Amino acid sequence: MARIEVKVLKVLRDNYVFLVNHRASGSSAVVDPGIAGPVVNKLDQLGWRVRKILCTHHHADQIGGNLDIKRSCHCEVVGPRAEAARIPGITNEFGEGDKVTLGDAEATILELPGHTSGGIGFWFKDSGVLFSGDILYPMGCGRMFEGTAEQMWNSLLKIRALPPDTKVYCAHEYAERNYKFARGLYRENAALRTHGEAFRTSLQGGGIGVPFTLSDELATNPFFAPTIPRSPSRSAWPERRPSKCLPHCAGAATRRSAPSPPAYPNSLGRVWPTLGGRAACVGRPAPTRRPSAPTASLRRMRTHATAAAWRRGPTMAAPHGAGIQC
Ligand SMILES: [Zn+2]
Repeated sequence: MARIEVKVLKVLRDNYVFLVNHRASGSSAVVDPGIAGPVVNKLDQLGWRVRKILCTHHHADQIGGNLDIKRSCHCEVVGPRAEAARIPGITNEFGEGDKVTLGDAEATILELPGHTSGGIGFWFKDSGVLFSGDILYPMGCGRMFEGTAEQMWNSLLKIRALPPDTKVYCAHEYAERNYKFARGLYRENAALRTHGEAFRTSLQGGGIGVPFTLSDELATNPFFAPTIPRSPSRSAWPERRPSKCLPHCAGAATRRSAPSPPAYPNSLGRVWPTLGGRAACVGRPAPTRRPSAPTASLRRMRTHATAAAWRRGPTMAAPHGAGIQC
């Protein structure tokens, strides 16, 4: 089994860059280098020889260091075929199912559109590692800049189908803000509380939020709804019944007909009802009703959620410059 070693580098405001090493071959790669200087310095310090830059998508805080690192290390630049024109220095364009090797370690390309129109992830199956870019975060998901909710949901489904023990490396640190939002929705979810508090304790102690384990997200991430039990006493939500598909905040559990999506005030409002309702019911027609007045359960939920969390949602803050939620 080919194993890789991953070092995490925090750069910019809240970006992560990943340095991947395949010791047996002495080959290394850099994932999503938003900036070159700290990356090159760290590589020098480690004595790792970079063969490839792996780019999940075209946003500036993922590819900003490409050209300088390529110039310094004379390496290949691997990126999504669908965004090749926007990946500086790209030498290898890949799509779904293609393989990228590092020594005898192999990553399968997963096309993960939704955050951008052509983003990809790098799944090192034998090592149980996924570099997901800006699609999935702990207790949250990426903002939809170019993709559709349908694409985002399908990308999340693709990740959800990976082995539960997969270690996920996302490109930003958003765990605490996502936890604030998610706990407003799932106040009775003990798994979420345990998961979120563990992140909070670690991050406030100077730790990092990656990698996180996919199985924890299956139990706590609102964007993996409707599989999340509303409370420990409830079983997972059925996926093929529209009346049970919308997120719990809409009170779907107690209704006989499909509820209208709540009118959320931010981009989450566009994502959430679609992910939780229409897209989750694969093959069924999308609800066409306009959002109705908040239900009693929604009003209760809003009361419980903090105002700030509702304004921001898990993906609304602007971390730096134009690289919003990238
Ligand atoms: Zn991005």
